[in-house]
Amino acid sequence: MRAFFLYLARREGFKNFALHFKFFRNTASRFIAGDTLEDAIRVVKQANRRKIKGTLDFLGENTLTPEDALTACKELIRAQDRMDKERADCNLSIKLTQIGLNLDPLFCEQNLVKIAEHAKNLGNFVRVDMEDSACTDRTLEIVERTYRNLGNVGTVIQAYLYRSEWDAVRMVKKGIRIRLVKGAYREPEGVAFRRKKETDANYVKLMKVLLENGTYPAIATHDGSIIQAAKEFVQSKNIPKESFEFQMLYGIRRDLQRLLARDGYNVRIYIPYGAHWYPYFMRRLAERPANVTFLIRNLFMEKKMNVD
Ligand SMILES: Cc1cc2nc3c(=O)[nH]c(=O)nc-3n(C[C@H](O)[C@H](O)[C@H](O)COP(=O)(O)OP(=O)(O)OC[C@H]3O[C@@H](n4cnc5c(N)ncnc54)[C@H](O)[C@@H]3O)c2cc1C
Repeated sequence: MRAFFLYLARREGFKNFALHFKFFRNTASRFIAGDTLEDAIRVVKQANRRKIKGTLDFLGENTLTPEDALTACKELIRAQDRMDKERADCNLSIKLTQIGLNLDPLFCEQNLVKIAEHAKNLGNFVRVDMEDSACTDRTLEIVERTYRNLGNVGTVIQAYLYRSEWDAVRMVKKGIRIRLVKGAYREPEGVAFRRKKETDANYVKLMKVLLENGTYPAIATHDGSIIQAAKEFVQSKNIPKESFEFQMLYGIRRDLQRLLARDGYNVRIYIPYGAHWYPYFMRRLAERPANVTFLIRNLFMEKKMNVD
């Protein structure tokens, strides 16, 4: 099921077909703040009122032209200005393929520098999301250089990749802020753990490295047992709550987000907005079979309404 949805995430033909159906869009709206920056800011402010921070994701990836990459950069800068004006407790998460990684890595790096410089002037931080393993080396290299020059960028390590322990240690040594995730892409044989149990075990191992030695790491998961393991680990090592944060995705495990914030942990939610939500939504479907049931239920409800 997971592989099937991750395969569909990259099929333009299926995308064009699926986008014709309202039920598909309605189901996606559970995971996406809305089409506009206004929608996203509204969600950030709601979260902030509950002492939950945000990180905005202007949806888009694998941009095909330099013009589209520059348009995305403009929006990312506008989003930062808006967060600043609203005094929102929120930063930015961006994907390098949105700002030109697959067109020209140098052009992409220049775009990232522009975005990070703008954030620095506003006293803010930029997180570079991690995409599929074809992007890992280029992403880490660009982040390392930008971090060395500006200091206010961090990135993501995926626990399902065999290489991640080595990458995590390298990033920790340089002081680069890391968000730890399990990994959301379809990977070829030989680069990633196949079994969930192995990914989970690697997650816990890397999490301990980051909590003990990392710079303000982000433990990004909705997995209750891993969150419990993190809480027990920090307690046993006397690691202060202020020195790390939990992160979750908008629309997933809101109960847990609130509980952690109420207990005094730093919590940040990842808030996607914009029109290009198809691949993001397909990855959310791939993660959890129950979401597919939800999608099918919406299809039948729509059919029933049409008949009524
Ligand atoms: C803040 C944040 C940023 C991320 N950034 C990246 C990134 O840059 N690169 C990347 O590859 N991946 C990223 N991810 C996605 C990540 O790799 C996982 O695919 C995703 O978090 C699901 O894994 P999990 O840790 O929640 O554990 P799982 O074992 O997948 O899930 C644990 C439990 O969480 C709940 N849950 C998980 N997913 C869903 C869902 N889609 N719908 C409903 N409930 C769900 C369920 O209750 C499930 O039992 C990010 C995740 C978060 C939280």
